[in-house]
Amino acid sequence: MDKNTLCVHSGTYREESTRGLNSPIFTSSSFEYMHVKDCLYPRHFNTPNQQAVEQKMAALELAEDAVLFSSGMAAISTAILAHAGAGDHVVLLDSLYGGTHSFVTETFPRLGINYTFVATSPEAIEAAITEQTRLIVIETPTNPLLEIIDIRKVSGIAKARGITTLIDNTFATPINQTPYALGIDIVVHSGTKYLGGHSDLCCGIAAGSAEQMKTIRTMASHLGGSLNATTCYLLERSLKTLALRVERQTVNAGKIADFLQNHRRIHKVNYPGLMQCEGHETAKTQMNGFGAMLSFELAVSSNPEEFLKRLKLITPAISLGGVESIICSPSRTSHAEMSREDQERVGITDGLLRFSTGIEDVDDLIADLEQALS
Ligand SMILES: *Cc1c(COP(=O)(O)O)cnc(C)c1O
Repeated sequence: MDKNTLCVHSGTYREESTRGLNSPIFTSSSFEYMHVKDCLYPRHFNTPNQQAVEQKMAALELAEDAVLFSSGMAAISTAILAHAGAGDHVVLLDSLYGGTHSFVTETFPRLGINYTFVATSPEAIEAAITEQTRLIVIETPTNPLLEIIDIRKVSGIAKARGITTLIDNTFATPINQTPYALGIDIVVHSGTKYLGGHSDLCCGIAAGSAEQMKTIRTMASHLGGSLNATTCYLLERSLKTLALRVERQTVNAGKIADFLQNHRRIHKVNYPGLMQCEGHETAKTQMNGFGAMLSFELAVSSNPEEFLKRLKLITPAISLGGVESIICSPSRTSHAEMSREDQERVGITDGLLRFSTGIEDVDDLIADLEQALS
């Protein structure tokens, strides 16, 4: 079935006594055990509200099963720790989400896990693999430069050596990219972004094979990052419009990228949908749409702070993926803790701005950008 249909229908818990159309919210943290094999308990990731979302997300990711978490980092850290222990080696992209980066550098040394960060290319990953490599962690498109890595190539390299692969699919969403179908073992999300979509909840998800999810669910009940029933319900409700929202956001982003690309006050636009972007050809082979995130550099003569202050509709704010368009300066927010040299090395200039496109009327958004630029 089409994703729009899956968003609405898959996973819903049909309650027999009232036959209501929506999953009821099951608030219990204590359940009877006498008549069942596996007793329900929220931290065992097996309650009806958790399962409703897990089934919907598994369907959307074209995976067999999924596990729902209380944050994106809970999903990412749990999935990684389910696959790497003392003596193992993990290969990760330099351009991974900042929180994943610091999780690795701050906890791996204490756990005896070895790691190598590499540039965003399959060749760099292949060159870093050792006899001890158990896991490869990637992200595409990347934050904030929207670089693209060939998912099929990475999965091919890993499969030939029996190495597990994990991708952070937050930026693309399952509407624009389904990496499990391209050979990746574990797909994770910060559901705080597009899946929630209204900037009002925090959650995470991992999806993959039934066997993989069993391994991750076991580690998850040790670490305990489960999501409460009320937020599960809010998320389930949000997911019903995921395809609608993301399709609209993606169309808006394409139009905004074109507008910025042709503006004399803009130095450079990073958006995988633009033909001149390095990752465009690869993106075409693995994405259904080019997503709703983009970044751009103002011409050197412009002052980014001044530009942000002049915006009337688009709000300077952190996070991304909500129905409202927001903008941020990575050098002042997500990458503020990076040294100046590291920022320059990876291409994060003071004039670089990251734009998360909302569902507003695109002409209103362009008018706001235009008045602030001029
Ligand atoms: C926000 C984000 C995360 C972390 O998710 P939380 O829900 O904040 O824990 C991970 N990866 C990406 C790409 C993100 O944007």
